[in-house]
Amino acid sequence: TPSQEYEPLDVDSLGARLAGVEILSRKVGPDASAWRVREVGDGNLNLVFIVEGPVGTAVVKQALPYVRLVGDSWPLPLYRAFYEYHALTRQAARDPGSVPEVYHFDEAQALIVMEFLSPHVILRRKMIAGERVEGLAERIGTFCARTAFRGSELSMESGAKKADVGLFSGNVEIPAITESLVFTDPYFDAELNSHTPGLEPVIARLREDAALKARVQRMLMSFASNTETLLHGDLHSGSIMATATEARVIDPEFVQYGPMGFDIGMLIANYLMAFFSQPAHRGDDPAAYQGWILETIEGTVASFEAEFARLWTTERTGMLFPACLFEDQGHSSEPAMKALLRDIWSDAVAICGIEMHRRCLSLAHNADFQEIEDTALRARLEARNLMMGRELILRTETVPDARALTAMAREFN
Ligand code: ADP
Ligand code: MG
Ligand code: MG
Ligand code: MG
Repeated sequence: TPSQEYEPLDVDSLGARLAGVEILSRKVGPDASAWRVREVGDGNLNLVFIVEGPVGTAVVKQALPYVRLVGDSWPLPLYRAFYEYHALTRQAARDPGSVPEVYHFDEAQALIVMEFLSPHVILRRKMIAGERVEGLAERIGTFCARTAFRGSELSMESGAKKADVGLFSGNVEIPAITESLVFTDPYFDAELNSHTPGLEPVIARLREDAALKARVQRMLMSFASNTETLLHGDLHSGSIMATATEARVIDPEFVQYGPMGFDIGMLIANYLMAFFSQPAHRGDDPAAYQGWILETIEGTVASFEAEFARLWTTERTGMLFPACLFEDQGHSSEPAMKALLRDIWSDAVAICGIEMHRRCLSLAHNADFQEIEDTALRARLEARNLMMGRELILRTETVPDARALTAMAREFN
């Protein structure tokens, strides 16, 4: 279809407007007037339509020129769909089967037609409901390792990687949201902040701590300046869809080059917030499911490190840590790899603490806490989360591995 000037779709116009997209007709059915269209976007930013027909179902995701959560007072460029599209194709290449298959991209309309994941449900919903996902830790830990490794100069040819950094550096507005919402707004009285009543003493304690703020700003500096690898950029439990036995990653519009520990750190934070919120969702007996969440954290890190080590041995084809400096001279590069994994983990721990703060203090809270109606209980659980986040930021070195992190979660619980 010829792309006309951008115009948002709606459930009534979608059939007529996308009838000419050949792959959509093939996936859904040739007669667009027979398509049933629903809008299901539950996110903060975009339109998401499910298009169902006699042959099958597909998803159409379209960017809006403003932040959906806030309204048209906060404009946001449509070009983020371009970056989301390129992120999805890279993730599919680096970890086949990890993301929905892209069928079609229309840059002018800022829309992506993709595979409909079914019967997948957003992982955050499953965690609020106390449902387990077999193989989750391995699937996502492997995804993080493959995308981190294969998107870096451990694997990529240096010039190709630099060119890709150039391409993604055009996605300026979206990282700017992370820079303020995640790293800065939680620590001062920013306009769009909100918090559960009763948290004021904890918030005061965080904001009066200059060392804490300095450490967070150092992490921001690394997030903004370091181009180790291509990140997903928004890898929380709302960006994973799962069945009881399968998990997939969606929604990489926050893609940017950054530190290798960023995605896994953000993800673990969201698992920890699921953990801390459980007493409100599981009634008298949260312990068993909380145990599963902590096992999932440990398993994710173990899978990340195992896959990273495997790729280190089999795919270290980039300019970094070349064999001519190690194996060819008769010594192992394993100590160098272990030191790198320690640095990645240390970044992940600090990012984890920061994400635990921002989800309770700035814009875009998570449903795990937000759906707790008893605000006194919510404040009590969020306070545990905030205080553990502080510990992770200020005393990162006391958490040398995932075991230490889950032990700390049990103490704060
Ligand atoms: P946003 O960028 O606005 O957060 P998402 O990509 O996260 O948008 O999609 C919003 C919601 O749409 C998801 O939470 C999920 O429920 C649904 N969704 C998105 N992509 C798919 C897909 N490929 N298959 C099924 N449902 C999807
Ligand atoms: Mg989303
Ligand atoms: Mg969202
Ligand atoms: Mg999104």
